[in-house]
Amino acid sequence: MQHRSRVIVGVLSMAILVQGWRTNVVLAAPRVVPPAPTCAAPARATPSQTEGPFYKANTPQRTSLIEQGMGGTKLIVTGYVLSPDCRPVPGAWLDFWQADDRGEYDNTGFRMRGHQFTDNAGVYYLETVMPGLYTGRTRHIHVKVRAPNGPTLTTQLYVPGEAQNARDGIFNPALVVTMRDAPEGKIATFNFIVALR
Ligand code: FE
Repeated sequence: MQHRSRVIVGVLSMAILVQGWRTNVVLAAPRVVPPAPTCAAPARATPSQTEGPFYKANTPQRTSLIEQGMGGTKLIVTGYVLSPDCRPVPGAWLDFWQADDRGEYDNTGFRMRGHQFTDNAGVYYLETVMPGLYTGRTRHIHVKVRAPNGPTLTTQLYVPGEAQNARDGIFNPALVVTMRDAPEGKIATFNFIVALR
């Protein structure tokens, strides 16, 4: 009897070990799939906004701006790049740049800067942290978007429910992302409408 219970305890701890190992493995959460876009043709192009003083060209190609030791709330931004007739645009170029969680831009290197291309379904996917506030502005992420043969759209994305939105002179409600809480942080969705030529 005693022997049997020791066996049971042994099997149980094995199970816990295996469970623990599994948990570690699934920590790399599956990529968030944005909801199918709601779009009525002809769709109005996404409004442009000023580039501001901190854009840098030649950013690294990457979908995650998160680097070792970075603070802040994890944020995923995903969605579609669509044409004015509501068709997904594969291979569209998106170049993101933003302040870190302390509201600071990296103007010497490329921290919190990166470009990527939409996949065959016209989907982009950015892993980053919630940008910090800096003097005079509400929370925002800068982005340039361009269809393969189209003009470049320069704009900014905003966060819903941010108190500073009402006090920011260039804030545009048409550029507010849809945001929800996730176990690891926040998930934002936004669809861009860009000209094809
Ligand atoms: Fe800015």
